[in-house]
Amino acid sequence: MTFKELKLDERLLEGLDAIGFEKATPIQEFAIPKIIEGVDLIACAQTGTGKTGAFILPVLHKIAQLPDEARHLNTLVITPTRELAIQIDQQVEGLSYFTGVSSIPVYGGGDGDTFITQKRALEAGADLVIATPGRLIALMNSDKVDFSKLQHLILDEADRMLDMGFLSDILRISSQLPENRQTLLFSATMPPQIRQLANKILKNPEQINIAISKPAKGIKQQAYVVYDTQKLPLLTAILKDDTFKSIIVFSSSKENVKNIERELNKHKLGARGFSSDLDQSAREELMNQFKGGKVRVLIGTDIISRGIDVTGIDLVVNYDCPPDPEDYIHRIGRTARAGSAGTAITLINQKDQRKFFRIESLIGDDIPKMEIPKDLGEGPAYTPEKKSGGNFKSKGDSNGKKPFNKGKGGYKGKPKSNNYKGNRNSGSSSSPKSQ
Ligand code: AMP
Repeated sequence: MTFKELKLDERLLEGLDAIGFEKATPIQEFAIPKIIEGVDLIACAQTGTGKTGAFILPVLHKIAQLPDEARHLNTLVITPTRELAIQIDQQVEGLSYFTGVSSIPVYGGGDGDTFITQKRALEAGADLVIATPGRLIALMNSDKVDFSKLQHLILDEADRMLDMGFLSDILRISSQLPENRQTLLFSATMPPQIRQLANKILKNPEQINIAISKPAKGIKQQAYVVYDTQKLPLLTAILKDDTFKSIIVFSSSKENVKNIERELNKHKLGARGFSSDLDQSAREELMNQFKGGKVRVLIGTDIISRGIDVTGIDLVVNYDCPPDPEDYIHRIGRTARAGSAGTAITLINQKDQRKFFRIESLIGDDIPKMEIPKDLGEGPAYTPEKKSGGNFKSKGDSNGKKPFNKGKGGYKGKPKSNNYKGNRNSGSSSSPKSQ
């Protein structure tokens, strides 16, 4: 489902477009309408599922609709660590870029100035506060911190917070917030203590569990970080290795399938494109030839990733990075079936680095980045983190401190729009369509 279909505020859609998020992840698809509707929610989801967007987007949507006078400490996100608070704040900055919603991360440590900046932001009433429990309690002691207009309390990584001994702090904070708020609890696991906590602070919550599938153990996963122009020559070089006997190449579009087929066959690599343009009997025949070993390389879009059950595929190549982690797992699951071994190689262009990072986060592993053959030149660096928040200049310094500024459209450090478009596409040697 696209974000437009989720009917988010136009300014948020603009931010999403700028960051390059097109489709909602499963948790976002479920949670966004529920949160907008106003229900309490328990979500069992890990990092990598897009959980942060799942709670930030609907909250930003709601804040963006409010009149100025109703906007005062609207949302409190409680997280276990300073790092997570900063990370969430950076996502908020990116997503809320065009909405003028203000946020402040509040965490312990730092010098007296940090404490004072955080205190002032709370007193002035930033829209969103992303806080670790201890520091928040210290700041809530000030009479000038007024949570009476708070509408959302969000607990992120609740299981980790309980492991770290924050239960009583959480209960204390929630007891000082308005009763008629909406409460959302996100946790990677659901031990009984989390249920007990949920019973205490949530009202008739709905629940979602995002099951995480993991790739089979026998799959050797590798990736190449490339420019678009390096993809075809690299694929050709990989397929010239004749230890791979049965290969599937996944691409994102029908046009790409045709281009790849044409190019590989110039090198007599025995490739055939599997496309929805083929009629049913031609598809079946092609699939039989592939199963029987008469076609060595089958190229297709995701339509072949779920259905086919061919044993003996020893290499899967993601010519384009799959749109979401579940697709990645389905695609590479075509190899190493029935306990056999197999290799899965993904080519990551600059535009897809963040998508690939999300896949790595979800499966909880760094996938080795391989060296590109020397004659193809150097590839780009792998810097997915920079590509997520990094398109947007930080409002403050590198310590995560930033000048607080309140009010709609109040973002001071906004880069010129032409700059920012330039950043999005920088280094990409060809347009996505020409891949
Ligand atoms: P999270 O599970 O919130 O830690 O998100 C993991 C990564 O997925 C982050 O790098 C996000 O920027 C990215 N992400 C979240 N939602 C989307 C989406 N709808 N499309 C693409 N990437 C996303």
